[in-house]
Amino acid sequence: MYNKKSLKAEEFISHEEVLRTLAYAEKNKNNIELIEKILKKASPTRNGKQVHCEGLTHEEASILLACDDKTVLDKIYKLAEEIKEAFYGDRIVIFAPLYLSNYCVNGCIYCPYHNQNKHILRKKLTQEEVKAEVIALQDMGHKRLAIESGEDPINNPIEYILECIKTIYSIKHKNGAIRRVNVNIAATTVENYRLLKEAGIGTYILFQETYHKESYEKLHPTGPKHNYAYHTEAMDRAMEAGIDDVGLGVLFGLERYKYEFAALLMHAEHLEAVHGVGPHTISVPRIKKADDIDPNVFDNGIDDETFAKIVALTRIAVPYTGIIISTRESQSVREKLLKLGVSQVSGASRTSVGGYTEEERPTETEQFDVSDQRTLDEVVRWLIEQGHIPSFCTACYREGRTGDRFMSLCKTGQIQNCCHPNALITLKEFLEDYATDETKKIGEKLIEKEINNVPNENVREILRNNLKQIEKGNRDFRF
Ligand code: SAM
Repeated sequence: MYNKKSLKAEEFISHEEVLRTLAYAEKNKNNIELIEKILKKASPTRNGKQVHCEGLTHEEASILLACDDKTVLDKIYKLAEEIKEAFYGDRIVIFAPLYLSNYCVNGCIYCPYHNQNKHILRKKLTQEEVKAEVIALQDMGHKRLAIESGEDPINNPIEYILECIKTIYSIKHKNGAIRRVNVNIAATTVENYRLLKEAGIGTYILFQETYHKESYEKLHPTGPKHNYAYHTEAMDRAMEAGIDDVGLGVLFGLERYKYEFAALLMHAEHLEAVHGVGPHTISVPRIKKADDIDPNVFDNGIDDETFAKIVALTRIAVPYTGIIISTRESQSVREKLLKLGVSQVSGASRTSVGGYTEEERPTETEQFDVSDQRTLDEVVRWLIEQGHIPSFCTACYREGRTGDRFMSLCKTGQIQNCCHPNALITLKEFLEDYATDETKKIGEKLIEKEINNVPNENVREILRNNLKQIEKGNRDFRF
């Protein structure tokens, strides 16, 4: 039976509740009166400088997803843009994945690291190699990483992951630094989550892959990941251990998207109900071609239009949650989604173990094909040309603004006095240290224009001063 406060996976992601929701959504998909009411509920309301957004329940959002009406779709897109603008402004945070090891004991059907794959090269970075990768990433201008690893208690135990995190944070090459390490490793114990928290991680990310239990078990036939409840309840253990920024995600293509979407929102509602804070981010990966993986064998692939609708509805349903789009997606898909509510993108990613130190993009240990293969400088320039502010900011978590403290910053509209200047400061660092002349030119112009959009006069003055200091060689200012 459905209970969002339950700590049992099968109760907070109740299969029956998802089916009931989908049936209700199907029945009401042309109920324009109800749809208008839902859109109104989701619209931002303003009280002076404060903007408030109510968000939507999994049931309400599912009705919008089921609706095929073109006029409604246009309204959904417009509303998603409006909400994005209200809470995130034009900022887009940039990060890169860092693959530590592709040793894996699981049998995930869609992932080339599955342990039946006997021909893929297995590799695990030594600390020297981690250092070399981090230097390469710092030399591009990255400040924020998501570390990735297969699950293998012998080859990649938690001690190995912790050692890598320590190495990553310790490297200060030229003006470079990795200031936030997010972690995407398999579900683990409360004890291990505590160790990750102590190691100073940013977000703990774990994709659910699919919320449909029966499919989940088929798609993960062997290994510890087979255990649906252990995987689905991982975020509760992470939060129990004190990690309050957690990142959810579904691998679109495995199951029917409407099922996944309703369940994903139920997961977010569960975290909010039990821990008082929803997910920090939601990722929306789609299955890609990889070593021995053909995405076409999965029946539930979604086209770009449906994908855009899912992103827009996620923005509307959970207005305070970041949305992440990786380089699995092409430049043109990313361009469209950025406007609809995406707040973070990866850039210049290599999805192979040790990929950043190679001249040519290596493929022999790659997890999936990267569609967007541009350099970080090109990604930054493109974002500016598209009207966004590229940000390498990591200030919130370093200032202790995580979990509900981050959410309240978001909710009170203080982001414009905080995240906005921080974005400009970190962009300035990038322009000074890593950008090509062309990027530097348009970047400087953007910063000059954006300084005037900082509402508080005091903050504006400090910002101007910090920017001058950066030109003199000083680094790491933040609000
Ligand atoms: N092994 C960890 C786990 O089980 O969660 C770490 C994550 S893995 C390195 C990162 C994510 O890549 C997976 O959660 C999965 O959703 C995604 N992934 C795996 N195979 C993929 C493929 N062929 N195309 C796109 N994404 C894929």
